[in-house]
Amino acid sequence: YQAHTELRDLHIYTPSMDSAARETQALLGELGPALEQGELRLHYQPKVRLATGAVEGAEALLRWQHPRVGLVPPGRFIGHAEQTTLINPITHWVIEAALRQLAEWRRAGLDMGVAVNLSTRNFSDPELAGHIHRMLEATGVPGGCLELEVTESAMMLNPDRAAAILSELGDTRVTISIDDFGTGYSSLAYLDRLPAACIKVDQSFVQRVETDNGAREIVRAAAAMAHAMGMEVVAEGVENARVLDLVTELGCDLAQGFHLCRPLPAPECRSWMEQPRGFPAAVPQPA
Ligand code: C2E
Ligand code: MG
Ligand code: MG
Ligand code: MG
Repeated sequence: YQAHTELRDLHIYTPSMDSAARETQALLGELGPALEQGELRLHYQPKVRLATGAVEGAEALLRWQHPRVGLVPPGRFIGHAEQTTLINPITHWVIEAALRQLAEWRRAGLDMGVAVNLSTRNFSDPELAGHIHRMLEATGVPGGCLELEVTESAMMLNPDRAAAILSELGDTRVTISIDDFGTGYSSLAYLDRLPAACIKVDQSFVQRVETDNGAREIVRAAAAMAHAMGMEVVAEGVENARVLDLVTELGCDLAQGFHLCRPLPAPECRSWMEQPRGFPAAVPQPA
C-alpha cells in the first residue's frame, strides 16, 4: 500500500509540489471524466500452460489513453481510484470490456478464459456479484472462463468477503486467483483456508530463481503446497528462457511474462495467440 501513502503525501505537500506531482494530481482529477469519455483501455497478457504451450487465458490489464499525456499505466491511477469510490465503476467497466473481448475471441475459435484484477475495495461493493452475473449472461461467456485476481494482502484483509463473493456467484464456476503470492503476510499454512483455485507466484521470486537458491526453494515449496491443496500455480514475470525452464522444473503449471508475450492491445494479442510458437521445445510440432 505504499502507492496510497505516496498519493496522500502528494495532497499534503500541495504548496511546495513540484511540477511532476502537480501533473499527477491534475491527472487524477480527470479520471472520473475519463471513464465516462471512454479513455480507459485494456491490454491483454497471455497465460501459457507450461506442459503444452497452450494459451489458457489472458489477463486484462488496465491502461488510460489520455489525450494529452498518452498511455498511462495502472500504477499511476489505480491507487487513487481505490481511495475514492471510482474503483467500483472502473472495475465494472473492466469486467464488461474483458468479457466482451473474450466472447469475441471464443466466437473466433480461441478456447480460452480471461482474468481481471480486483482491488480490496471491490470486496465491499454490494453490486459486484450481480454485475458479474449480468455480464456473463449478456456476453454468453461460461463463468468457468472468468478468473478474478485478488492480491494476497487483499485476500488476507478480507478472507470472509472473498468467500462471500464466491458464494454470491453461486454455480457460475467463476474462480479466484491469489495474485502477487509471497508478498503478503500469509504463511503457506493459510493456503487451505483461502477460497482460491490458483496462486500466482510474485514476479519478485520468479525473477530471482536464476541467481537465488532461497527464491528457487520458495517457488518449489509454494508450488508443492498449492498442489497439495488442489490449486494451480502460475509463475508471473518470466523474462527469459532460462527462468521459463526453471519455473517448469520447480513445478509451476502456467507462466506469464515478457519472454512469452508483453501485455498487448486485443488485436495484437490475438495475433500472438494464433501464431504457432514452437513452445515448449520438447513437444514436436505436427508436420
Ligand atoms: P499484476 O496484476 O500483478 O500484473 C502484472 C504486472 O506485471 C503488469 O503491470 C504487467 O505488465 C507486468 N508484467 C508482466 N510480465 C512481466 C515481466 O515479464 N516482467 C516485468 N517486469 N513485468 C511484467 P501493469 O499492467 O503495469 O499492472 C500493474 C498492476 O496494476 C497489476 O499487477 C495490478 O495489480 C494492477 N492492475 C492492472 N489492471 C488493473 C485493473 O483493471 N484493476 C485493478 N484493480 N488493478 C489493476
Ligand atoms: Mg494480476
Ligand atoms: Mg500479479
Ligand atoms: Mg504482481
